[in-house]
Amino acid sequence: MADACLFCRIVRKEIPAKIVAETNDCVAFRDINPQAPVHILVVPREHVPSVGDVTDPALVGTLTRLAADLAQREGIAESGYRLVMNTNADAGQTVFHLHLHLLGGREMGWPPG
Ligand code: AMP
Ligand code: ZN
Repeated sequence: MADACLFCRIVRKEIPAKIVAETNDCVAFRDINPQAPVHILVVPREHVPSVGDVTDPALVGTLTRLAADLAQREGIAESGYRLVMNTNADAGQTVFHLHLHLLGGREMGWPPG
């Protein structure tokens, strides 16, 4: 499963991506189909399919901390940004390796579609 997983392959650098940060636990890279001027995906190195599969709650905090640091670095911390974890079919999850979307650089509507 993890062998073929797209984001595991990006983490292992088997597939190129615009990586913006790497830590012991996480990798962050630019979304290939950006939905906002800043659209970064923060993923754990470990293969976890979805937020419902998280066993160590600290992992979600680690992803969130890195996303907040990247928002600062990208210059959108003050203007605002959105963190999204699409989960399963109704939310439109397409890649089943946990990822936190960091979106910002434009005003966003609410509720999301
Ligand atoms: P989700 O729909 O929440 O599962 O998000 C998956 C995201 O991965 C989408 O926003 C895609 O544009 C993005 N994506 C798919 N393939 C790649 C890739 N090779 N490199 C970077 N982002 C990708
Ligand atoms: Zn994976």
